[in-house]
Amino acid sequence: MSSLFSNLNRPMKRSYKLQRENMVDRQLKNRGITDESVLDAFNRIERHRFIEESLWDRAYNDSPLPIGLNQTISQPYIVALMTQALELTGEEKILEVGTGSGYQAAILALLSSQVFTIERHGELAKTARRVFESLGIHNIALRVGDGTIGWKEYSPYDGIIVTAASPETPKSLLNQLCEGGKLVIPVGGESLQKLYLYTRRGDDFDRKTLCNCAFVPLIGSEGWNNDS
Ligand code: SAH
Repeated sequence: MSSLFSNLNRPMKRSYKLQRENMVDRQLKNRGITDESVLDAFNRIERHRFIEESLWDRAYNDSPLPIGLNQTISQPYIVALMTQALELTGEEKILEVGTGSGYQAAILALLSSQVFTIERHGELAKTARRVFESLGIHNIALRVGDGTIGWKEYSPYDGIIVTAASPETPKSLLNQLCEGGKLVIPVGGESLQKLYLYTRRGDDFDRKTLCNCAFVPLIGSEGWNNDS
């Protein structure tokens, strides 16, 4: 009997690895994610560890998933697109606004030297912190608060990723970019936004539109002003 159970356990683990490889091939490579280090990070970070166990069979689906408190872990492709846009070399200091499950931060942690991430819900922050610890990820600093005003103390950042949608681009975030630094942020209405990529050039900011997207709202002093 026991050998039967241990045999059952092994294919299970292997199948998540296989599902991740399929996710990387079909959802990322097929749609134009070409940065090998980004693709490698998506193979290494186990997305199922960032959601509750009852959803594990959907962990590698091509969609966002609920993480509680009306929030979601983003679709893998969108996480990859935002990450690739930063063109990371491994040396960077990154700020993420909207920790949520912690998945995006964990991907960034593999591809940069230090990640700062801010979440407004204490409960989500607590769960994410536990996942980082259990995965042995030590280059993420997490704070509970309003990320629309950034995290000035550690600025300027080489890259900033905002994973919730704002009616306008927060000035504080643009100001916390270093020269040549990049900000990726969804901006627009509550149900549909454009994903913008800004690059700092002195006091100017080049802006490129990456795609249309639909994120949960960014709530804070330079975002939407309440839950309703
Ligand atoms: N990056 C996340 C996606 C989470 S969804 C992941 O990989 O799972 C967006 C998150 O932004 C939610 O958890 C929400 O609570 C948070 N959020 C919204 N407004 C915020 C703000 N002003 N500051 C920090 N976090 C915010």
